[in-house]
Amino acid sequence: MQPLPLRVADADDWSWQLRAAVTTVGELERHLALTDEERAGALRAEAAGLPISITPYYLSLCDPREPSCPIRRQCVPHLDESARVPGDLDDPLGEVAHEVAPELVQRYPDRALLLVTDRCAVYCRFCTRSRMVGDGGGARSDEHLSRAFEHLASHPEIRDVIVSGGDPLAMATARLARLVERLRAIPHVETIRLATRVPVTLPQRITDELLAALRPFHPLWVMTHFNHPKELSPLAVRALTRLADAGFPVMNQTVLLRGINDEPATLEALFRGLVRARTRPYYLLQADPVVGTSHLRTPVSRGIELMGALQGRLSGIALPKLIVDTPGGMGKVPVGPDYVVARRPGETDLRTHRGVVVTYRDPPA
Ligand SMILES: *Cc1c(COP(=O)(O)O)cnc(C)c1O
Repeated sequence: MQPLPLRVADADDWSWQLRAAVTTVGELERHLALTDEERAGALRAEAAGLPISITPYYLSLCDPREPSCPIRRQCVPHLDESARVPGDLDDPLGEVAHEVAPELVQRYPDRALLLVTDRCAVYCRFCTRSRMVGDGGGARSDEHLSRAFEHLASHPEIRDVIVSGGDPLAMATARLARLVERLRAIPHVETIRLATRVPVTLPQRITDELLAALRPFHPLWVMTHFNHPKELSPLAVRALTRLADAGFPVMNQTVLLRGINDEPATLEALFRGLVRARTRPYYLLQADPVVGTSHLRTPVSRGIELMGALQGRLSGIALPKLIVDTPGGMGKVPVGPDYVVARRPGETDLRTHRGVVVTYRDPPA
């Protein structure tokens, strides 16, 4: 077992990072001292289900000797993935049921989700789409997406398209640019969002070439996915800075994960670090009840407690909304501590972050 040589871990070539991604137990074993549970989990992942893929860069953030490392727990399989608990679902957000065309999911009148590939740079062990990612199809062909584009073009109420997968930034630049160009050509599509974990797992992907290819199609928003302050490496911060400099508003969605980021100090460091990198903490997501992820999930009450601890400690721009994406795909619900302690006609009692109760009087009717 040897740590990766720094020169290799820092290799600034994103396609090399993808080619050199660790995908087998044997390779993992060369870089990390695996526990028996990790080894058994990795053998299971090799055989079936959500595959293994970890870029040399993301692997270099893992502690080779410490199995509780918050990076390692996100990407290295564990035998606990074989557990099935009540409430577990293969497709927690009912995306298959809400497909309006192949690869197009619509759960809200004004927004749609377009799944353009099944590939990611790193397969996260808590993936919401473990039912389909890494299945081997790769980037979806223009022909395969033609019905999705027809649906988008013929529904003028859709103003916001979220391009996801898999990871759209794992696609070749020319192909991604063509896809974004096609979306931009639909007059009523105002906002295009690229949902990507590449700034976290493969920051080398944010090249000048990529930015130049996408820039003509603004407004393009980037929705990224940092879960732990350790992920805000100099390379990741450089990627976020490049995106901001190229005019992309960058939003972050953190998934709340047990033993990884479910402490107030961890979330505080993460959210402050993101703001310093000009990235807005947008959502803190309750983990979806995906089959095989119960060991990584927290009770909803923990998220509410954490929000209570952070309210008042962090500025409004650093504090995301806590969201439960309801099982079955009925939509996202914001949750949090109750700050309204009593309501009377014309008066509301509010509890402040200092614990003081203050009455607000409504204007005369
Ligand atoms: C999460 C999601 C959205 C976007 O929700 P926002 O709250 O606008 O970020 C849109 N469509 C689907 C299917 C989603 O899962």
